[in-house]
Amino acid sequence: MSQTTDTLIIGQGIAGSLLAMQLNRMKHDFLVVDSPDQPKSSLVAAGLINPVIFRYLTLSWELERNLQAAKGSYAELSRFFKTKFFHPQPILRIFGVNEYELWKRKSASPPFDTLLQPDTFEIFFDHYLAAPFGVGLVHKGGWLQMAELVKQIHAFLIQNNRLIQEDFEHKAVVVKEDGIQYKTIEARQIVFCEGAAALSNPYFDFIPFRPVKGELLTVKIPGMTDDHIINKDIYLLPVGDEMFRCGSTFDWDDLSYQPTYKARAFLEEKLREFLRLPYEVIHHQVGIRPAIADRRPVCGQHPVHNRLWILNGLGAKAALLTPFLVNELVAQLVEHKSPDAAIDPVRFWKA
Ligand SMILES: Cc1cc2nc3c(=O)[nH]c(=O)nc-3n(C[C@H](O)[C@H](O)[C@H](O)COP(=O)(O)OP(=O)(O)OC[C@H]3O[C@@H](n4cnc5c(N)ncnc54)[C@H](O)[C@@H]3O)c2cc1C
Repeated sequence: MSQTTDTLIIGQGIAGSLLAMQLNRMKHDFLVVDSPDQPKSSLVAAGLINPVIFRYLTLSWELERNLQAAKGSYAELSRFFKTKFFHPQPILRIFGVNEYELWKRKSASPPFDTLLQPDTFEIFFDHYLAAPFGVGLVHKGGWLQMAELVKQIHAFLIQNNRLIQEDFEHKAVVVKEDGIQYKTIEARQIVFCEGAAALSNPYFDFIPFRPVKGELLTVKIPGMTDDHIINKDIYLLPVGDEMFRCGSTFDWDDLSYQPTYKARAFLEEKLREFLRLPYEVIHHQVGIRPAIADRRPVCGQHPVHNRLWILNGLGAKAALLTPFLVNELVAQLVEHKSPDAAIDPVRFWKA
């Protein structure tokens, strides 16, 4: 039996999920194809939103714009699913040598005056943490329960007959002038949200994807405070019941989904450098972040086939970036807005 739809979305990680919910909100017709067998980075991510990049003490790219879209989108999804997905929480940075002086200087003027708070020694608990050079707080951060959100959207799509659970075959696509044909489905357009699997998408093979393997531990720390997300080389993110996500590693060479002893040893060593309480490792997870050589996402139309679209390259910033990118993609797709050059896939196209 043949089916027609406006938009066919490939992939139901955080990108495909938020796009589907936005189209649903706008009463725009869509279908999602998602493989039950492919790994999903969105089910592994800690969901951290950090407004600053500690290494250079700079703002995250387009922070205010992305943060505003993220807060709006997650608040709306929370109302829709009656579940709190985004948890605002200050990030407690454990300083390295001379870091306090840099924070003090930067926090004296905008935009860092509302973000960084370097004088927070009173909230530093000697009992839990080793911080010989002091600590500071970052405001406006938090974490998204990304896996839970993706799972609830998955159930919603199934209930509403919007999800086809199978492996999408690129070679079965017929691109026409007025739409695409995929097996028995006719759609006006297709949006690829395949995460790291986009490496084998023949239509977007001109994009320089640089996927990054990440490993993450879930640890139980009896008696540990859960007031802050803690950061010192790695992060320790409280998820309730004395459980914490501890991550993560970055590996550009080994792109297997195998957990490694090396990554676990690295994370535990970093954890022991600041944590003064005993802990137990409960899980060890692996994912591949879909990242791009210029460290910016891709969101827009294929340079030649105007029925093909992509939303990808979320890197380590999916929780912060996806809501803005979805708004942007939908504005192009439905309202024919002009593309934003910084995220347009055409930037990589050499005719
Ligand atoms: C260890 C680790 C920690 C991370 N921590 C954070 C964090 O704290 N904060 C943050 O913002 N980000 C974090 N990330 C990054 C984040 O996970 C990713 O950027 C994000 O999940 C990517 O979402 P996506 O929807 O593009 O891809 P995915 O979540 O990977 O989803 C892709 C989907 O496409 C489907 N698919 C692919 N190919 C096909 C096909 N041929 N047919 C059918 N379906 C297909 C897959 O089944 C999957 O459902 C982390 C990643 C890792 C690995």
